[in-house]
Amino acid sequence: MVLLVPNTAAGGFGAEAAGALADKVADLNARYRHHSATSVMKAALTEAGHIALVSSFGAESVVLLHMAAVIDRHVPVLFIDTEMLFTETLVYQTELTERLHLSNVQIIRAADIGTEDPDGTLHLRDTDACCALRKTRPLQKALSGYDGWITGRKRFQAGTRAALDFFEVEEGSDGTAPRIKINPLAHWAPEDIRAYMEENRLPRHPLVARGYPSIGCAPCTSPVKPGEDPRAGRWRGQQKEECGIHFVNGKLVRIGASE
Ligand code: SF4
Repeated sequence: MVLLVPNTAAGGFGAEAAGALADKVADLNARYRHHSATSVMKAALTEAGHIALVSSFGAESVVLLHMAAVIDRHVPVLFIDTEMLFTETLVYQTELTERLHLSNVQIIRAADIGTEDPDGTLHLRDTDACCALRKTRPLQKALSGYDGWITGRKRFQAGTRAALDFFEVEEGSDGTAPRIKINPLAHWAPEDIRAYMEENRLPRHPLVARGYPSIGCAPCTSPVKPGEDPRAGRWRGQQKEECGIHFVNGKLVRIGASE
């Protein structure tokens, strides 16, 4: 049995503790290698420490939210409100929270938007800086009280995710603790997601039917034409593909999004 590694964000994190976390992750991956997404979710909520589910309440978020609610409707759910989201997302978040009886949805907003992006135009000049301000930093702060987080990343979404494991170590930054990151849907294909939603009669984000298979902030998301990659509408015309919400050593990385 591998002991749980405490999150000691304030006091730094030694190599020994980081090694113990790596051992724990390896142990969980070995034990759950052939298990279902639901089993992985259960393990995340019962064996991985103090864990939050990070959700964008986007196109496919309802799957993980439903899976978590069935196991423990009191699970902390962190929802980053960038203050640039579609109204439909905000309404969907409220409706879904009620419908799934989730009791601990925490709405996270950056405190410094008023000083750093007072006129809301940063996204026009520097999308990385805007995502850092409105998503990455607030999430990093919100996660500081947790041992880890659950994401909706899947292997099929990008080449960089092709080897995605159920459990990962997320490195800390500037002396903060590394965390465990859990991807219960790592092995799911688009058909699995559709089937889960249909079988459980889960409501879809209203923008999906209007051509948005991947939904982020309103200024940076456009509809997708038939045959296009589902994420083609995110930061269309730019090199940027990810919001940087998955960070390594405090730096934005291009390897993931919460969905
Ligand atoms: Fe800003 Fe666009 Fe990133 Fe939203 S997706 S935080 S508006 S750059």
